[in-house]
Amino acid sequence: MTGMAIGLIERDRARLWHPYAPASPDLPLWEVEAASGVRLRLRGEDGSRHDVIDAMSSWWAAIHGYRNPVLDAAAKRQLESFSHVMFGGLTHAPAVELAERLVDMAPSAPGQPGLERVFLADSGSVAVEVALKLAVQFQTASGHPRRQRFLSIRGGYHGDTFAAMGVCDPVDGMHTAFPGLLADNVFAPRPPAAASATPETVQEWAADLADIAAAHSGELAAIIVEPVLQGAGGMHIYPAECLTALRQLADRHGLLLIFDEIATGFGRTGELFAADHAGVVPDIMCVGKALTGGYLTLAAMLCTADVASTVSNGKAGALLHGPTFMGNPLACAVANASLGILDDGKWRADVARIGAGLETGLAPALDVEAVRDVRTIGAVGVIELHDAVDVTAVTAAAIRHGVWVRPFRNLVYTMPPYTSTAADIEQITAGMTAAVAEVHGRVPARSGEAA
Ligand SMILES: *Cc1c(COP(=O)(O)O)cnc(C)c1O
Repeated sequence: MTGMAIGLIERDRARLWHPYAPASPDLPLWEVEAASGVRLRLRGEDGSRHDVIDAMSSWWAAIHGYRNPVLDAAAKRQLESFSHVMFGGLTHAPAVELAERLVDMAPSAPGQPGLERVFLADSGSVAVEVALKLAVQFQTASGHPRRQRFLSIRGGYHGDTFAAMGVCDPVDGMHTAFPGLLADNVFAPRPPAAASATPETVQEWAADLADIAAAHSGELAAIIVEPVLQGAGGMHIYPAECLTALRQLADRHGLLLIFDEIATGFGRTGELFAADHAGVVPDIMCVGKALTGGYLTLAAMLCTADVASTVSNGKAGALLHGPTFMGNPLACAVANASLGILDDGKWRADVARIGAGLETGLAPALDVEAVRDVRTIGAVGVIELHDAVDVTAVTAAAIRHGVWVRPFRNLVYTMPPYTSTAADIEQITAGMTAAVAEVHGRVPARSGEAA
């Protein structure tokens, strides 16, 4: 049996690419033999088996855990009906129900137009592409054909396709690898960190942003940001008041406001959407990742009725996008089941409970000299090191402690499934802290303190 697992990983190395990896990487790979609840059963190249808690929720997606009976049943039910049909000229109940659900739950506020129109896309990056296209089409249809650039903030991540890469952080993103191919967008400083921000620093940031927007307003179509929490660009948490400043700025200059809620959506930060922390409604919103509870790839772009009708009445007469697998019924059916689980609002207590557990459990990591900061928001916990994480060593150490993490740059972070128990969260936080301490320096002994 051992030979089979070794064989599989060797076959993988001979043929496959993995995310952001060279071909045939000399990096460890783990075979997933089974996944159930919050746990993965991994098999290493040496045939060793490890039962680990997935502290990553498969990159923000598996919020209800693996083999979830409600999601399994929804997938089987749809499978017995039909798995896919084209969406050009045809429609089906799973897509219509999903659009209605998304509109119902989307951010809303008195006196602000709501998000009423839904475009279903295959992945987060594609949803961002569609949002950016829509914004440009909106400006053209509104008589502003020169408004074709985007204003974003540094430290952002919006996906890996070309337009999406073009609004990612220009230094840490992939701009240098594709000079000349990425749009020349406008970047403002990243907002101050929530933990140390004051009304004055928020105001200073907003003033800076206002100057930049004013200087470029004639050529900007939209502002795009990840609200409150920048994810893959550095796990940066910033004050919700900044969203209010962005909304005002967009309105002042006739820009559309795009919120990329692909990571933050569906309760992760403690509100259903991060925009809800500020009561701000964007003109366009992108969701993905947890939309199907991590079962299938699906994303969506939502926009206001005004944006939809302006573009539809413009010269192009249509939103110029239409993926082959648009509105995949299987994915929509599972998404409906996943959003159905969120309907009773129990997620709110789960996220709060997990957040409290992460805060308590990760606090001891601050005693490790290599650790610069520990921070949490909702059901997200972050250990930031002074220097780059030894990803291979920390991943292996965490696995020994029964936890799956995927660190990047100087960050070891977790966003556990909402179904994680208190004991699961203790294991995650203890495992992360121990892995960092073992690889990057022990907890210094402090005199007069019990061990
Ligand atoms: C993951 C992510 C994306 C890209 O989504 P994919 O499904 O990987 O294409 C875009 N924006 C944010 C904020 C994300 O976290």
